[in-house]
Amino acid sequence: MAKKLNVIELRHLTNNAYVVKLERDGFEFQSGQFIILNIEGSVNRREYSVYSDENDNYLEVLVREVEDGLVSKQLKKCKPNDILEVDGPFGFFKFHPEMFSSKKFLFIATGTGISPFHSFIRTFPGLDYKLIHGVRLGTETYDHSDFEKERITLCTSGEDNGDFYGRVTDYLYDKRIDPDTQCFLCGNSEMIHEVFDILTGKGIPVSNIFSEVYF
Ligand SMILES: Cc1cc2nc3c(=O)[nH]c(=O)nc-3n(C[C@H](O)[C@H](O)[C@H](O)COP(=O)(O)OP(=O)(O)OC[C@H]3O[C@@H](n4cnc5c(N)ncnc54)[C@H](O)[C@@H]3O)c2cc1C
Repeated sequence: MAKKLNVIELRHLTNNAYVVKLERDGFEFQSGQFIILNIEGSVNRREYSVYSDENDNYLEVLVREVEDGLVSKQLKKCKPNDILEVDGPFGFFKFHPEMFSSKKFLFIATGTGISPFHSFIRTFPGLDYKLIHGVRLGTETYDHSDFEKERITLCTSGEDNGDFYGRVTDYLYDKRIDPDTQCFLCGNSEMIHEVFDILTGKGIPVSNIFSEVYF
């Protein structure tokens, strides 16, 4: 049975990306999991990774308004005290550093695929990670200030104003990656398939690659 949670606020990060902050009301999840949301009474439901920290007393999701999208446009109109129905948590993209013998992490995201990694680094401060974030424009740095600056590489494919001009796949081609690195991929399926091939080609065992496909 879905839980009904009140919207606390919407925080706009760009003109088409925003964070929905909800009252948590005891809702349990593990960092990396997703929830299914709908506006109270609507039959249109969509999956969203949890953006906030396991220990926060609120629940957040990061949403990109998709052109011609249905739910991402409806959610953008939410106001404080509106009610969302929340189902879950779901998914196996869970993250607990103790699960891994090697504690070296590589996070690779496109767009709002950064969301679970935001939850990881907030829930587990002091992680040894690198984040490669692929976006189109240099303005799409969703809350990068919450990450350690020297651990992020911003790849911009639409303009040359990030750390690397091109897609995350172009960036990865000539990079050396230790085979014991635990690699987490999140975002669109094309990126995930290409990055999977690049990583296995570099000798990363399949058992060290975890992925979450958004669309
Ligand atoms: C496990 C999981 C977790 C997800 N977590 C997030 C999240 O944290 N944040 C988030 O913004 N989205 C996330 N998504 C995508 C989300 O569920 C919706 O698909 C998205 O919000 C579009 O819904 P819509 O109703 O607005 O568009 P729809 O009317 O359902 O679809 C419009 C079209 O847009 C495409 N599309 C879907 N997502 C995107 C996108 N991000 N960019 C470009 N095109 C897209 C779809 O393939 C479809 O063709 C997740 C999806 C899954 C499966």
